[in-house]
Amino acid sequence: MVLKLSTTDHRSDIVGMRYIYPVLSRRAGGLSIGINFNTNNTCNWRCIYCQVPNLQRGVAPAVDFGLLEEELKAFFTRVLHGDFFESFNVAPEQRVIKDIAIAGNGEPTTLKELPEAIALIGKIASAMGILPKADFILITNGSLIHQSHVQQALAQLSHYNGQIWFKFDSATEAGRKLINNTGQSLSAAIENLILATTLCPTLLQICLIDYNGHGFSNTEHHAFLELLQEIKQRCDLQKIMVYSLARTSQQPEATLIKPMSIEVLTAFAEDIRKLNFTVSVSQ
Ligand code: SF4
Repeated sequence: MVLKLSTTDHRSDIVGMRYIYPVLSRRAGGLSIGINFNTNNTCNWRCIYCQVPNLQRGVAPAVDFGLLEEELKAFFTRVLHGDFFESFNVAPEQRVIKDIAIAGNGEPTTLKELPEAIALIGKIASAMGILPKADFILITNGSLIHQSHVQQALAQLSHYNGQIWFKFDSATEAGRKLINNTGQSLSAAIENLILATTLCPTLLQICLIDYNGHGFSNTEHHAFLELLQEIKQRCDLQKIMVYSLARTSQQPEATLIKPMSIEVLTAFAEDIRKLNFTVSVSQ
């Protein structure tokens, strides 16, 4: 059987590996090599749009470094020199490794050994010629950047010219509680964002959702623009990505959530551009 990778199929078992899952990335226009350390589906947040099935509050389990090394070498070899693209019927124009993305089924910075894990990925991917051509990305909710093991991890990421994609879905305390189910204050999140930018190039991810038909409220809109104005003064963000839901939420609130319309996303992006940020939009 010829399997086909799709832009929506993020099954981590598609190549039969514990840590690696390939995804055809809509945004990137090629192969994204996902690395999942949250093999137990754990996160310290519970976003109501989260697409992780059976999401649990908790931390990533200890890494089997021997297995991680084996999987990285085997998968990279298969993509570079084997039948990977043919066997997954990938279109010729998408047969390129766009990035290695540490993301997966939970919050990767809950992994205590993240510095060592990033160092291993960086070393092997560099030796095999994948880095620095491809991007090296850590996708995070940013809530643990004040912890020293995360700062060490970001130093490793920076060493390999990596980048942080920092989640920021609401600019109000109420919105953060509703959407992300986090107790972390807005001011603590801002300080973590500023700290992130001092350690590694950082992009901001804003996922807007329409909860219960409320759309994008004026309160939230204004709070975001004020917040971004403050951030502009205090740190250097590479880019802001505005987007909405690509896949169905696996949370109990799923039936109350709809993607935000492209018109709302585009208008918001235009307002952000007026603050002199580079902004991308996708739905
Ligand atoms: S931070 Fe990411 S993994 Fe955690 S609950 Fe939110 S969407 Fe899910």
